Amino acid sequence: MPALKGGRSIGVLLIATIMLIAIELLGAAPSVQAAPQADRPAAARSGFRLAATSALTLDVPILMYHHIGARFSSPYNIATQDFAAQMNYLAQHGYTAVSVDQVAAALRGQTTLPPCPVAITFDDGYAVQVHNALPILQRHHFHATFYLVTGYISMSHAFMNWDQIKGLMKQGHWIGSHTYRHTAVGSLSGSALKREIVAAKTKLENGLGISVTTFSYPYGSYSLTAQRVISDAGFTSAVCSVMQEEPRAIIWRLSIY
Ligand SMILES: [Zn+2]
Repeated sequence: MPALKGGRSIGVLLIATIMLIAIELLGAAPSVQAAPQADRPAAARSGFRLAATSALTLDVPILMYHHIGARFSSPYNIATQDFAAQMNYLAQHGYTAVSVDQVAAALRGQTTLPPCPVAITFDDGYAVQVHNALPILQRHHFHATFYLVTGYISMSHAFMNWDQIKGLMKQGHWIGSHTYRHTAVGSLSGSALKREIVAAKTKLENGLGISVTTFSYPYGSYSLTAQRVISDAGFTSAVCSVMQEEPRAIIWRLSIY
């Protein structure tokens, strides 16, 4: 398995993702069971495996990326060459990229996933995701879900503009919402919460001419109130980087860095 700079191994990262877990969202209640531990590496033992009421069990790596580019010390940045090595690993090991919505539908028993599925996700709408990550995704025919902060779109050269986002869509990538101003929705209520969730969704849909059905919680900030607003707004899946006490409303992602 190829070693990444800084001593990390993509193999270890991907083993860790296998324990990652997906949790049904906004729909019929599945049960969540602790993953069997005997045959799992230590890194995986804190994970869970979802078992839906239909006995459906899914282990799907859902990878979360932010900034792709120059190397600097931040858990939210990954060097382009490291990202390339990770995508190369996925391709060499037969992974097929699916959308978060596809994972959610599979959890509901509404569809089946291809062998070796992986969901690749990007948060925040950085322009470097288009400049640096997109060519690598194209090389492997991988598609990804891009969670955009509506208020950041076209704000500066650091963030994607509307045309770049439409370009992603034309190439088959998927678009999700990451609020209006990248706010911790778990601490909000009332009109402020609705602006971050409902208004952001509406503006994104109007700007792109699509229906946006998947949501990403900034900072992993979650609350039952926010979950209800997200559901009522028409989202059918939501991803979170922090495992929550009420896990049925989210799909948990693994941060890659
Ligand atoms: Zn974010």
